[in-house]
Amino acid sequence: MSRKQKKMLIRVLIAAVLLIALQFIPTDGALRLILYLIPYLVIGYDILLKALKGIKNCQVFDESFLMAVATIGAIALALHEQSGDYTEAVAVMLFYQIGELFQSYAVGKSRRNISDLMDIRPDYANVERDGRLEQVDPDEVEIGTVIVVQPGEKVPIDGIVLEGASSLNTSALTGESLPRDVKEGDEIISGCINMSGLLKIRTTKEFGESTVSKILDLVENASSRKSKSEEFIAKFARVYTPAVCYAALALAVLPPLVRMLGLGLPADWDNWIGRALTFLVISCPCALVISIPLSFFAGIGGASAAGVLVKGSNYMETLSKTKVVVFDKTGTLTRGVFEVNGIHHSELEDEKLLEYAALAESASSHPISKSIQKAYGKEIDRSRVTDIREISGGGVTAKVDGIEVAAGNDKLMKQLGIEYISCRSVGTIVHMAINGSYAGHIVISDVVKPHSREAVQALKAAGIRKTVMLTGDRRQVAEKVAADLGVDEVCSELLPADKVEKVEELIQKKSEKEKLAFVGDGINDAPVLSRADIGIAMGAMGSDAAIEAADVVLMDDDPLKIAKAIKISRKCLRIVYQNIVFAIGIKLLFLALGALGIANMWMAIFADVGVMIIAVLNAIRALFVKKL
Ligand code: ADP
Ligand code: MG
Repeated sequence: MSRKQKKMLIRVLIAAVLLIALQFIPTDGALRLILYLIPYLVIGYDILLKALKGIKNCQVFDESFLMAVATIGAIALALHEQSGDYTEAVAVMLFYQIGELFQSYAVGKSRRNISDLMDIRPDYANVERDGRLEQVDPDEVEIGTVIVVQPGEKVPIDGIVLEGASSLNTSALTGESLPRDVKEGDEIISGCINMSGLLKIRTTKEFGESTVSKILDLVENASSRKSKSEEFIAKFARVYTPAVCYAALALAVLPPLVRMLGLGLPADWDNWIGRALTFLVISCPCALVISIPLSFFAGIGGASAAGVLVKGSNYMETLSKTKVVVFDKTGTLTRGVFEVNGIHHSELEDEKLLEYAALAESASSHPISKSIQKAYGKEIDRSRVTDIREISGGGVTAKVDGIEVAAGNDKLMKQLGIEYISCRSVGTIVHMAINGSYAGHIVISDVVKPHSREAVQALKAAGIRKTVMLTGDRRQVAEKVAADLGVDEVCSELLPADKVEKVEELIQKKSEKEKLAFVGDGINDAPVLSRADIGIAMGAMGSDAAIEAADVVLMDDDPLKIAKAIKISRKCLRIVYQNIVFAIGIKLLFLALGALGIANMWMAIFADVGVMIIAVLNAIRALFVKKL
């Protein structure tokens, strides 16, 4: 409980004790009023102040205004009737505040749950000064500083390992339980926990730009992106509150006037004003206003604990309507770790050809390039390479030791006007041209991720109508992978722009209500990620481009999480709709009862607080997504 909440709890207790005590003390007249005003003001002074502020700022119609008018009205009515029955007004205020307290506690708790689940925020960084370790605020560490991470500590800032070797626990970032080994020269991202050895790290980013800050920002800002349902509620509240205020006014004034002037009966003002005040108490839309954002918030929190970052409630809503899922191949359904299977028709020694390839590829972040550099295995001297150009969906050209080198697919060779020898093996081909003439090709192959097949089946089982795979790779490779995985449609040999076109075509073909999700790794497909109704990025480990372009990020590259994300979003939306229907339904029922004079203020406040508690508890259910 926060200090504010504790203060409120004390106020609630004082007011409740006073109110109960007063029931046993016989008083009347002005003394009675003053005695009752004490608990009333203890519990309600802030509401009255808020209502006054609202009137001053011309934003009259809010909850505080409703409560202030209803309770002051009830006191005035009791004075007028000389009944001395002030209990009702105090109790209404008391229950309203109990409801508010419960709500802020529940919201705070779910927020805390979420940050506990995302327990990755580092508190300090160790910097060596004069031979001693000093703990400093990670925010103050400049790029290029050497920091020390001891076993058991969190890596506070992204960087490169300068000294030491260790294994890292990345589970808070990815949900993945296998440790990752790092050694000198490896890149390391913040948020992991250092498990075994001492590491010295040279930082490559500021804290604010580091992975851990980015992820926390994402989660914290997610709730500020409003979904359609939330916009609906906000609009609804803007229209609804004034509407019920006028309705209450009409209820207080019209029936007595009609009785007096039209029917010649006594006006019965007290009765109708009483009903109008009850009507006001009932009308408080708090349950709705609080439980909808809370449901989304809990859903987003639950998802992030499962390793799925959803960037906003609007995306939660779109995700739940997904009917078509389009995948990128490399890095998404396959691991993106290619093995060299063979080198054919080489004009040079195989080793030399691989060296040229690795050097030419030295600046690319494409999985193919990384794999070739790895296969080459030796230190790459970047100063030997100049004029690097990457042709997305094609390959690279560069000058190595001043010699022109091209490495890429059929398309690139055609574009450069180089005659190439086609390869019959099933695999991805990297043709090489040196000094403008063909120098052979490297056959590489990738393997599908262990869960890819299951992932496609899980999507089918979750009612996804169509799955499509898009790739820039060769037809033979694409079709083999597609058949292995059981995706419905496959398009191959696409340039990045073709992928966008293809996705647009697919969006045209489906109905407006069905949504299309594109799942990619952010390499050569960032435009598609933003063009799709919803972009889901894989390979979030370190890939900033993907995190930025996508609406949903799967922290551990596991395609099984796509179906999981969709199920989580559906559960969340189901809860949202339940709460909307439940809260509005009960409200309307009690408003009618109040107008008819059947419900009194006690029932009204119980209905209000009750609906709110149930709605909030229901919202919190969205946090639990383990079993989906
Ligand atoms: P995918 O759609 O499978 O993710 P991309 O669109 O990233 O594939 O790339 C398509 C094709 O372009 C690759 O299969 C490869 O033949 C070629 N290519 C792209 N980048 C490179 C590179 N850096 N080196 C060699 N070939 C490349
Ligand atoms: Mg790709």
